[in-house]
Amino acid sequence: MLDIQKIRADFPILSQTVNGKPLVYFDNGATSQKPQIVIDAEVKYYQEINANIHRGVHTLSQLATDAYEVARGKVKDHINAKFAHEVLFTSGTTHGINLVANGFVSILKPGDEVVVSSLEHHSNIVPWQMLCEKTGAILKVIPINNNGELIIEEFDKLLSDKTKIVTVNHISNALGVINPIKYIIDKAHTVGAAVLIDGAQAVPHLKPNVQELDCDFYAFSGHKMCGPTGTGILYGKEEWLNKLPPYQGGGEMIKEVTFEKTTYADLPHKFEAGTPNIAGGIVLGTAIDYLNEIGFDKIHEYENELLEYATKRLNEIEGIRIYGNTKNKASVVSFNIDGIHPYDIGSIIDKLGIAVRTGHHCAQPIMNFFCIPGTIRASFSFYNTKEEIDAMVEAVKKAQTMLS
Ligand SMILES: *Cc1c(COP(=O)(O)O)cnc(C)c1O
Repeated sequence: MLDIQKIRADFPILSQTVNGKPLVYFDNGATSQKPQIVIDAEVKYYQEINANIHRGVHTLSQLATDAYEVARGKVKDHINAKFAHEVLFTSGTTHGINLVANGFVSILKPGDEVVVSSLEHHSNIVPWQMLCEKTGAILKVIPINNNGELIIEEFDKLLSDKTKIVTVNHISNALGVINPIKYIIDKAHTVGAAVLIDGAQAVPHLKPNVQELDCDFYAFSGHKMCGPTGTGILYGKEEWLNKLPPYQGGGEMIKEVTFEKTTYADLPHKFEAGTPNIAGGIVLGTAIDYLNEIGFDKIHEYENELLEYATKRLNEIEGIRIYGNTKNKASVVSFNIDGIHPYDIGSIIDKLGIAVRTGHHCAQPIMNFFCIPGTIRASFSFYNTKEEIDAMVEAVKKAQTMLS
């Protein structure tokens, strides 16, 4: 079992009061809080080894470079990539997806097809629309059913030898639904399509195994898994990263530059132009260590308990509708109360110290599907408690009384 009080003590922000009430932070799907060890590591970097990486022979530059590469190695081990050079540092999931979509501009021809799902974050829709606009490729969309699950038979029907890339999230940020990505990856490979998995919502809850999944790309953000903002990872299979052209040109990504011709650096540097978020990358390694020390098995078990408890307690509320009713779900509850705008509930419960997200969660197509303006989304982390869930349920009931 997890010692939740001990874990909570690792997160200084959790002992704050907001609007005079103890903070109940249920907006983990937007960004997670940071443990002191992560905050300390960021400070320590700037106090002790700050220097630019890869460029200098001097000692600090070596120390910074080594620490950055150690962090890359930690990520490689964590996601079980085959090579460290398949792990690219990015500024976040959005950056990683855009890098791949941009690379496919040189691969797609008019009439080729890109398959996305209706469950995607705008970050995993818009770059593909832009790709299709530039190349004349066609965007195909996997539909969902009323439970918020992908309709897999429809996915099967979308695939053909025209399909060049399939891109879906591992876990939906708006509903918490876990998608059958292993099936999707294997099936897409039968027609020779590449597969990108948007893992932004998965990595806080589980440890992805990219070799076992056999995905071609896996993108995620550091800030949703206890790491700093402005950090992220794009995993890409070596053969694909060799095939794709660089995303940005600049320093650090070249072998040789002349005005006649520039040759590009080897992986991973080909995709890491300019000075990266050095501190952030190193500290992302610290965050991953921290999570692994707690253990993803324990995190999974505890968060499931929170999910079940929250679902049961929220269902006591008259007129509630929960979106995403499926067995395979992460610790996210997205809901509405009959006749009340989600924003109004969110505003009232904020006054009671409870932080949830209200709105479309950067996933407007899902809201359109359910014909709603948005939902109230409570997303739980391993540092949350059942008492906090009780506080939220009471607050929602109070808001309901005030608003009806
Ligand atoms: C948060 C999120 C993104 C975008 O991540 P950024 O860190 O903002 O780049 C993309 N997809 C999903 C599913 C997300 O939850």
